[in-house]
Amino acid sequence: MALLSGQRVIIASHNPGKVREMRAILAPFKLKLVAAEEMELEEPTEDGDTFAANAKIKAASASRSTGLTAIADDSGLVVPALNGSPGIYSARWAGPEKDYAKAINLIKTRLGNLSTKAHFTCALTVAPPSGTCHTFIGHVFGRLTFPARGTKGFGYDPIFTPDGYSETFGEMDQNTKHAISHRSQAFKQLREELL
Ligand code: IMP
Repeated sequence: MALLSGQRVIIASHNPGKVREMRAILAPFKLKLVAAEEMELEEPTEDGDTFAANAKIKAASASRSTGLTAIADDSGLVVPALNGSPGIYSARWAGPEKDYAKAINLIKTRLGNLSTKAHFTCALTVAPPSGTCHTFIGHVFGRLTFPARGTKGFGYDPIFTPDGYSETFGEMDQNTKHAISHRSQAFKQLREELL
């Protein structure tokens, strides 16, 4: 499978922050990217127990509904000292109201004096209308910093400081984030294999 310049590809995500980042990362490849919301696609139930399983559910569902190739990612913040939480439940920790201040407070409270080591993981799946899905996994390692700092990015960005940097993802120039993020690591593999 290859993704070709001019090809219509669905971004199977309803998260505007992610759609924005995927568009930015894929811009050089001149694909005709269409977000799931523009196609009024329903969000499938993400009941996989890994990032990869959930990315596949989202991409395969969008591809089945549209007959087009679809790209989906499933990602989240993994805190080893919290047994990997919030992990695949990263979005759910913020509740239906997407209250990340609440989710961040919950992490801070549960963490107490435990290790602040953390990483973001991204599983990226490309699902063709027929044939085999391809999944790529990326990580970015760092630590949690409290209080939250910065208003750029989304989700847990204001409490995540990647290794080798002093700014959080929430403070960082977004091009710098895109160059090192878990999503860009996964996309790098996708580009090497499919573009
Ligand atoms: P998903 O839509 O189920 O993959 O939800 C992933 C969730 O993980 C997002 O809603 C955010 O809470 C969090 N997340 C994933 N990637 C990032 C990132 O780059 N920055 C901050 N939070 C992220």
